[in-house]
Parts: sequence; structure tokens; C-alpha cells
Amino acid sequence: MSPRSAIVLLVSLALAVLGVSVALAAELMDEPDPALPVSTVPAPAPAPPEPAPQPANGPPPLTDTPIHWRHSRAVGKPFSGELVDGVELPAGGRDYFTWDSELKRKPSRAWRRYGTDRLVSTLLQVLSEYRAAHPEAPRVGIGDLSRPNGGSFDERYGGLGHSSHQNGLDVDVYYPRADRAERRPYSARQVERALAQALVDRFVAAGAKYVFVGPRVGLRGPRRVVSPLRHHDDHLHVRLR
Ligand SMILES: [Zn+2]
Repeated sequence: MSPRSAIVLLVSLALAVLGVSVALAAELMDEPDPALPVSTVPAPAPAPPEPAPQPANGPPPLTDTPIHWRHSRAVGKPFSGELVDGVELPAGGRDYFTWDSELKRKPSRAWRRYGTDRLVSTLLQVLSEYRAAHPEAPRVGIGDLSRPNGGSFDERYGGLGHSSHQNGLDVDVYYPRADRAERRPYSARQVERALAQALVDRFVAAGAKYVFVGPRVGLRGPRRVVSPLRHHDDHLHVRLR
């Protein structure tokens, strides 16, 4: 091979290699690797993690179904009033079951479970704290609150009916049973008195206006708040102010 031929061969080889490189580069440019950074601008710092929900800002998710929170208004009086934009207490949750006082079964029907947002959140907060303090305690039975728009909740709606429970500020809470069964107690003797007293104390501490208790259950509290009332030997009745 003459030196000239050798040079031609080397130049041809170099051009061939260059051509392949150019083709490869073109292919890479057509299909840029998405994993490669497309610019040299540094990526923004990751956003700080969302703060964990604080119980003080609202109740933790303690219910079997989500709550449709909205600002509610209690209109009029508990024994002559209505409820605007009430909130439905879900049928059950980590710390409670609901008990239908007319059908005598759990859960209670949705239309018996409306209260103001403040009543529902106060109730869930008290139940959560009570169960944290008494891990051995059974879930608490929750009876009637108000109807979806409040108003009369008398005997036409079953059982003895209520003269109050009209504006979303009242809730009936069944005393814990000594046998831990998830149903209402049928007499004062079936009540676990120490746990019932713990519930009364927590509703008083939560700022209840009244807590009505059964004359035969032997529960105590500040006299301006806790008072005995007939037909309350199976449940306590909490009214918020
Ligand atoms: Zn009641």
C-alpha cells in the first residue's frame, strides 16, 4: 500500500467513525433521556412536609366515614328551635357506636344524628380523650342528636321522644355497660358506674352547659351543670351552651 493510499484509508475510517458518532448524537437528541437534566438550573428544594393534623385544630379522623364539616347555626332554643347547616355524625367510629333508641339496634338512622359542627367535634374529642384514658373501656353508645334541620323530635319520631334536641346542641350518650356489650343498658344496675362518672367529668370539663343524669346511677358533678332527671338511668344527656 502506498503512503497515499494509507492516508486515504485512515481519513475514510475517521470519517466513518465521525459519521456514526453524529448519527448517534442525532438519535440521542431526538429521544432525550428523560432521566437526564435538561438544564443546569438546580431543581427547586422539595416543599417542607405538611404538618401532621393537630387535634387542637379539629378532630382527628375518628369516624368510619368522612365528616362533611361546615359551619352550623343553632337557631332558637333546644326545646323550640332549628338547626341550620347541621353536620351528620357518622354511624360509627373508633370510639363509639350509634344506637337507635326506637329500633333498639345499632347503628342509628342517619336522620337522628345531626348536630352543630361544634357539638360533633366536641363529642368526638371527649370520646377520644376518654378512651385514651380508659383503654379497657368499650366503645361508647351514642343515641339521638337532632334531625337534619332540627325542629320537633317528639314521640312521633319514636320512643318517648324528646322535648329538646331541636337545635343541634343536645346529644344522648349511653352509659358504659359493666358487661361491655355494645348496646344500651336497660337498668342502672347494668351500668359501669366508674366509667359513667369519667364520661360525665369529661363532658363537664369540655364546657357542657348541662349534663342530665339518671337519679339511680349515682353520678356527681358541679350542681350548676350536672342534674338528675328521670328517664336518664340508661343514658346521660349533654347540652352545649
Ligand atoms: Zn336527650
